[in-house]
Amino acid sequence: MSRPARASFDLAALRANYAHAKARHGGRAAATLKANAYGHGAVQCARALAGVADAFAVAFVQEALELREAGIEEPILVLEGAFGMGDVELARQHGLWLVVHQEEQLAMLESLRSGPPLQAWLKIDTGMHRAGVAPGQAQALWQRLKACEQVAGITLMTHLASADEPDNPATDRQLAVFEAATQGLPGPRSVANSAGVLCWKGAHRDWARPGIMLYGADPRGTASDVLRPVMQLTSEVFSERWIATGEPLGYGGSFVAERPTRVGLVAMGYADGYPRRAHTGTPVGVDGRLTRIIGRVAMDMLTVDLTDLPESGPGSSVELWGRQVSVNDVAAAAGTIAYELLCNVKRVGRVYL
Ligand SMILES: *Cc1c(COP(=O)(O)O)cnc(C)c1O
Repeated sequence: MSRPARASFDLAALRANYAHAKARHGGRAAATLKANAYGHGAVQCARALAGVADAFAVAFVQEALELREAGIEEPILVLEGAFGMGDVELARQHGLWLVVHQEEQLAMLESLRSGPPLQAWLKIDTGMHRAGVAPGQAQALWQRLKACEQVAGITLMTHLASADEPDNPATDRQLAVFEAATQGLPGPRSVANSAGVLCWKGAHRDWARPGIMLYGADPRGTASDVLRPVMQLTSEVFSERWIATGEPLGYGGSFVAERPTRVGLVAMGYADGYPRRAHTGTPVGVDGRLTRIIGRVAMDMLTVDLTDLPESGPGSSVELWGRQVSVNDVAAAAGTIAYELLCNVKRVGRVYL
């Protein structure tokens, strides 16, 4: 037998989550597949959603080309837009939609004289202050885009900074800035990421751009009774031992047994993407029952507490996250967010269901 560390992907759950996002938002939804579909495999996810999703979204042109090479024909929105004229040409050749979030990108489109036209998404900075044109410039830049011979259509968009906090007034402020900046301009609009879809009805426009919710994680970090986890990260116990009260375990001896403790050794480590910062007490499933990580996560293995699971031992199945253990709970224990854990999974075997 080979090393049992695996990530399995439930593509039916992905489709169900997409349908949920689209129904909740209304209108159309671009399934966000950037960063290899948050670690889930962009090509596999795009194939699972082909003919279902209205469009896909990725971060940059190269990510879109991977999907085109795999035969994906849906429109693909490039969220960071073009880094140079080479990207613009590739976008035109392959029918990609380009976000325009700064004047330099507009100037690239203005320089085009012939060849296939493309769709532009003008991104307005309504308060996140990361990317996007100033609200006061939106009307003028829209007019310039409109005047571009090679721009076939314009969608107006913005991105929400704090939509995962349902009580944070910043979102309503962003929505008001967006309305004022785009007043009177025709064309479709797009505001909502997953948190916008789930928490902010006022952010629902023509297009949603759901990402994390497609993979079954609620962006608020809470449990969800509608979203189904797509990734299940699993392995097995491959060794066990008893350590006596007072004995340390693992690197740094950070865990010291408070009672005779049966330790299960699991084939999963931070080189597989399991977070090293997941401390003692982080939930883990063994044979379908909840126990805890004890000691420090190492590069290739980690240790779990089997003291109260007398039936479990070598060969027992372990779920690091997925159906029983929420990736949000592991992320909270590791001081990060589900997004980071999901997109860091590597080295493990991958199985598509
Ligand atoms: C990543 C991204 C999204 C998707 O965000 P989620 O929080 O994963 O739903 C939407 N829009 C933009 C501009 C993004 O960069």
